[in-house]
Amino acid sequence: MSKPYALDWTEQEWISWLSLRGESTYIAKQIYRWLFAQNCSDPNLFTNLSKNLRSALLEKLSWELPKVDTRLESIDGSEKFLLVMKDGLFGEMVLMPSEKRITLCVSSQIGCRMGCTFCQTGKMGFKRNISRGEILAQLILANQRLKEMGEERRVSNIVFMGMGEPLDNFDEVVAACQTMIDPKAFGLSKHRVTVSTSGLVPEIQRLGKELPVRLAISLHSPDDERRSRLMPVNRKYPLSVLKEALLEYPCSPRHGITFEYVMISGENDSLLHAKKLVKFLHGLKAKVNLIPMNHFPGNPMRSAEEQQIRAFQKYLSDRSIPAPVRYSRSQDISGACGQLAMKREAEIDMDPRVLRRKRKLETIPTIE
Ligand code: SAH
Ligand code: SF4
Repeated sequence: MSKPYALDWTEQEWISWLSLRGESTYIAKQIYRWLFAQNCSDPNLFTNLSKNLRSALLEKLSWELPKVDTRLESIDGSEKFLLVMKDGLFGEMVLMPSEKRITLCVSSQIGCRMGCTFCQTGKMGFKRNISRGEILAQLILANQRLKEMGEERRVSNIVFMGMGEPLDNFDEVVAACQTMIDPKAFGLSKHRVTVSTSGLVPEIQRLGKELPVRLAISLHSPDDERRSRLMPVNRKYPLSVLKEALLEYPCSPRHGITFEYVMISGENDSLLHAKKLVKFLHGLKAKVNLIPMNHFPGNPMRSAEEQQIRAFQKYLSDRSIPAPVRYSRSQDISGACGQLAMKREAEIDMDPRVLRRKRKLETIPTIE
């Protein structure tokens, strides 16, 4: 049987486990601190614990962080990490430092079962959920990287916009968020943790009751027929049902709800769509991120033209809806979700010599 993963345990679980071994609550709190306040997951370095206890921790539990297979530095300052999970599957995270904040985009699943047609992770299908500890491990890795870079700040904002549908892995994602906002752990503000969802209505309602972090909705079309084509989830939870859940979501009056809108040429980029979108947003405090679609091989869809995007943006902002255009960061390094992991999947059967040459080229950022 495989050992339990130390990072999966809550402080309470540490207290229970250690009390069975005759250890105090104080020790449990120290271990929890080492992991999630000090970003250290090596019990050998838990110097305030006895040697015996450190050996027992190593023997009974597993502690490894995902391995960084590749780290690609973008010319925009962001870094994308291709991670090898304990079972050999690939995950991804993106670290995006800026003057005001340091944002980490984390993955919640390997692959995704939602099947959105414009998304490379969707094409991959679902492999497995990422556990709470594996989600937190991404944050520890990012903070370790920042330290290595000589950066004094730590990750300040989290967005669940990597691989996977976070609300399809509800319990693990909420548990990870709880540790993120725990002042004894990472101590992030709950207004700085954003869960992005394709629109799983019952889970949006549960999130609102259990842990109302910031919400981002991947909308992509204000029209049921078209949205169902782009995002099969819309067949189960159509726009009217989604809207009702959003009206009830306890978001902060300052931040409201963010909508992600991938601009796809000839699909959702006309002013008629903009008009319908404004109608859909009526009554909500909304901001719309307009994202030019990241193209990937084998997909006939293309990004909307710049002119079209600007006209769409103007239509929204003229009606007092903020609509920044978000060029996905790190485009030069397969920035959009799932793109790097998919590349690696394709490489598994590749001749190692070809692969070495290919990877060498990949570490040099280029813009197509
Ligand atoms: N599953 C969640 C979060 C992960 S996807 C969700 O769908 O919200 C993160 C964001 O990347 C979503 O807004 C998604 O629509 C967007 N995205 C997916 N494929 C994309 C592509 N090819 N180009 C640009 N954005 C894309
Ligand atoms: Fe899954 Fe989000 Fe991609 Fe849709 S856009 S397939 S929900 S990761």
